[in-house]
Amino acid sequence: MSASIFDEAQKRLDKALKAYPMDAETALLLKTPKSLIEVSIPVRMDDGSLRVFQGFRCRYNDLLGPTKGGIRYHPQVSADEVKSLAFWMTFKCSVAGLPYGGGKGGIIVDPHKLSQAELERLSRGYMAAIADFVGPDLDVPAPDVYTNGTIMNWMCDEYSKIRRSYQPAVITGKPVALGGSLGRESATAQGGFYVLEALKGKLGLSGKGLKVAVQGFGNAGSIFASLAHQAGYKVVAVSDSKGGVYSEAGLDIPELVATKLKTGTLTARGAEKVSNEALLELNVEVLVPAALENQITGKNAANVKAKCLLELANGPTDSAADAIFDEKKIPVVPDILANAGGVTVSYFEWVQNRAGYYWSEEEVNQKLKVIMDRSAQQVFELKQEHNVSLRTAAYVLALKRLNEAVLAKGTQKTYQK
Ligand code: NAD
Repeated sequence: MSASIFDEAQKRLDKALKAYPMDAETALLLKTPKSLIEVSIPVRMDDGSLRVFQGFRCRYNDLLGPTKGGIRYHPQVSADEVKSLAFWMTFKCSVAGLPYGGGKGGIIVDPHKLSQAELERLSRGYMAAIADFVGPDLDVPAPDVYTNGTIMNWMCDEYSKIRRSYQPAVITGKPVALGGSLGRESATAQGGFYVLEALKGKLGLSGKGLKVAVQGFGNAGSIFASLAHQAGYKVVAVSDSKGGVYSEAGLDIPELVATKLKTGTLTARGAEKVSNEALLELNVEVLVPAALENQITGKNAANVKAKCLLELANGPTDSAADAIFDEKKIPVVPDILANAGGVTVSYFEWVQNRAGYYWSEEEVNQKLKVIMDRSAQQVFELKQEHNVSLRTAAYVLALKRLNEAVLAKGTQKTYQK
């Protein structure tokens, strides 16, 4: 990831500030993170050697509540990336109207190269290192790329040991058997799907069998592909880090999910191979980037033929690509709206943990739908009102809420009266 990702993220804020000029103090507060810590995590490896891993946790802004955001395990994690993701979380939580600020964390590691025991020691070591900076009312982590429910539980357990009491609400995305919420596993994809359904008519997409291509076949991408397939969309291409498969007639997604689970690879009978780059340029109605950042940039955006993009990944499109899509009138349903289902059900998990009362999956999905439909509607109305892109409209919605919080606390004007 380039060192300028945070500058990239800020460009979106600057654009929204032009559409929605607000109190200068709110803008000032949103320019820098509240805190960003770097920790060293010594881990005893299975062969007896010692390795020290580098980790980060950022609490970007807590105007609206405790900070909230995932933990990523990836070789390319950096302070700049963590800060940018925490910045996005601030806006995402605000778009969904959740009582949270934005946070994020990460460790520089390729988790596939560690044994389960090493991964557990690393995860517990990370939580021990950041324990003073997280907590149910302070900062609530969750899974992100290459972290999962098992890892969340190790961290929850470590935190509970440190506090000498059961603390399920310190982290979300836990296994259901250990305080997780039903529906969390599918929440990001399900939320994105509700948003697509709410907006597709307004974006000029209609009819059965709309063609979809999905980049990334992990939690977000594979579940989204399954939901779309079930609902009658024609999923013509999917890919993972090793490349993808393509079939003009539509892929059998349940079979692909089963094959990937069994063999670790994406193979399908009668399908052609497609590279990740070529997948982004297919002639489809909906392109769903669901892998990593900066996949669609000024270099390849002009080649995108999709009628609309649904950003399940965080930051898959850069601002140069945004400009090209604006010009070509290709709507981009932005990450801070499209993938907010994950944090929304994380919020439900936190609420259930604190209440000690658990909901059915049906109840979770009903409540998720209410929030995603409402957010999609509000973003679309602001797009029309300000004549801006869906992305800028989503930022404007988030800014309005953040601005209200700042004004309610009192600004310079309050003290000059
Ligand atoms: P995951 O680890 O489950 O899956 C990631 C997938 O991307 C894997 O299939 C991997 O093979 C693939 N991938 C990696 N590099 C790739 C490349 N260069 N090209 C194509 N595919 C590649 O992760 P996830 O949880 O599905 O997250 C995916 C994206 O969605 C990330 O940007 C994440 O921040 C975002 N997101 C996830 C959630 C969530 O709840 N899981 C919530 C909000 C946003």
